[in-house]
Amino acid sequence: TAAAATPVDVVVIGAGQAGLSAAYYLRKFGLRPEAGFVVLDRSFGPGGAWQHRWPSLTLSTVNGIHDLPGSSLAEVVGSTSGEVPAAAAVPEYYADYEKRFELPVHRPVQVSVVCDRGDHLRVESDAGVYAARGLINATGTWEHPFVPWYPGTVRFRGRQMHTKDYRNAGELAGQHVLVVGGGISAVQLLDEISQVTATTWVTRREPAWREEEFTPELGRSAVAQVEERVRQGLPPGSVTSVTGLPITPAIRAARDRGVMRRLPMFSEITETGVQWADGSILDVDVILWCTGFRSSLDHLAPLELRNAGGGITLTGRLATQVEGDPRIHLVGYGPSASTIGANRAGRAAAREIIDYLSAEANSR
Ligand code: FAD
Repeated sequence: TAAAATPVDVVVIGAGQAGLSAAYYLRKFGLRPEAGFVVLDRSFGPGGAWQHRWPSLTLSTVNGIHDLPGSSLAEVVGSTSGEVPAAAAVPEYYADYEKRFELPVHRPVQVSVVCDRGDHLRVESDAGVYAARGLINATGTWEHPFVPWYPGTVRFRGRQMHTKDYRNAGELAGQHVLVVGGGISAVQLLDEISQVTATTWVTRREPAWREEEFTPELGRSAVAQVEERVRQGLPPGSVTSVTGLPITPAIRAARDRGVMRRLPMFSEITETGVQWADGSILDVDVILWCTGFRSSLDHLAPLELRNAGGGITLTGRLATQVEGDPRIHLVGYGPSASTIGANRAGRAAAREIIDYLSAEANSR
């Protein structure tokens, strides 16, 4: 027999920056915690993906963590500079936030699947089933590391790891590490690892160094480009792929040490390393794939949100609403996959979903 579903206006899935912002605004715009909305988060503690970041990613080496609405990171954790690991500071900040605004976060609760039952969405989790009138999905990307396929990958006898698996450079000492990828994670890890051991760097394209300073205008134009893609139904691509690589003092120093010399992508993986199309070979001990993440959306598969091109067409003020289905919003996705974007998207999604639900209730 099917379990009785708990009725609720809105289910928010995920309690990272995007889910917490959405929850804050759902509450502020009038939904009551529990019967009005719940937040289901599969992590054991607060912090979203930040609780899993490597220890050397500190408040001074992150790109910048934007405050959640109504609360200041600096005030809660005491400082936003220095060598405090983001993996400690952000969970502390989010824990305080959830308490302060009495957000109904349930954890650890994993949503396995969401189905469309016509008059409601059936949200199945390992802690029960919800019948929701609206859904704000904020599940991030951390649990979906992306590694491209190359011939020979199963033959390699060394170690393959992804950004997600990196803890510290020390554990790689004495090994030749091949860093793959042209994004911010790749250059940050390359800088750290090259200080303790031999590294080689490969990227598909020439790295896009950004000499000029990062301005709000540059940020806005990058977000606008990704937003345009999802409005057209294209897969989003990452915001940093259009902002370029910042040349921080650490990166400049690494360039001066000569470790930022990049080789083109290899064509296959061998038992002991990699080989290029021209036949040249390189033996390495570790292949570190800094090749990014994809959105964690498997639990939404029955909703068939994807179009033929593999993208999800979004609409609404900040492109968070699934086109043709005002019950469903994606936040922290595409143009809002940053802490500031997640904030704004949470607000827009909360406003639009509440307006939709009240209009729909009035028409019944
Ligand atoms: P997350 O923080 O990933 O939260 C998603 C939550 O959903 C998690 O708690 C997860 O457990 C939960 N969840 C997932 N699936 C389910 C499910 N099926 N059921 C229930 N719960 C589920 N952005 C910046 O603005 N500044 C930075 O400096 C910065 N640095 C970054 C560094 C790295 C290495 C990476 C990978 C990203 C970085 N970003 C940065 C981007 C960052 O990911 C976003 O800014 C933002 O923090 C993501 O928030 P989110 O709420 O979308 O996702």
